[in-house]
Amino acid sequence: MAEYAESLRKLIEEFKKLPGIGPKSAQRLAFHILEVSAEEVKKLAASMLEAKKTIRHCSVCFNLTDKDPCEICADKSRETKVITVVEEPKDLIAIERTGFRGLYHVLGGAISPLDGLGPENLRIKELLKRITSKVSEVVLALNPSTEGEATAIYLHKLLQPLGVKITRIAYGLPVGADMDYADPMTLTRALEGRREVNV
Ligand code: ZN
Repeated sequence: MAEYAESLRKLIEEFKKLPGIGPKSAQRLAFHILEVSAEEVKKLAASMLEAKKTIRHCSVCFNLTDKDPCEICADKSRETKVITVVEEPKDLIAIERTGFRGLYHVLGGAISPLDGLGPENLRIKELLKRITSKVSEVVLALNPSTEGEATAIYLHKLLQPLGVKITRIAYGLPVGADMDYADPMTLTRALEGRREVNV
């Protein structure tokens, strides 16, 4: 049985390692690389290396950034009394699109025992350290999923003794939906309709 040449096979194998890329997509991407100019391929490779080299987590909010602290944490015009807690940087971007001008904290996921993700794997300690008397409200903007729910309950328990107001955004979103797919209008309404948590 004939096989692809070694270097093509390797390229397909590398693409298959990417999230959401099955064997067929990997093949399609590899063929695409062969179709485009060497210049284009160089640009792609260079942008991957450049992002890898320059992007890191903000040491305050754990957003992805090329500056530390990130632009949001360094922005003096922001409302520093309100910290919105999100699971991933993409959720931060989604909330940012609504025009929210407070601060953020990126947990790095949600509690998910099935995926081996416990509270100790999330940036929860770092969040608690940020809750000083200067912070008046923590907004939990977690995904409407069982993992997001479990994380919200866990955080609420830890935050409540600190005497800070804890709110959760009201979802106009179906349970199981990803927050970053929500349109800004829906998210704006969800933010405006946030409610204090009293578990
Ligand atoms: Zn930051």
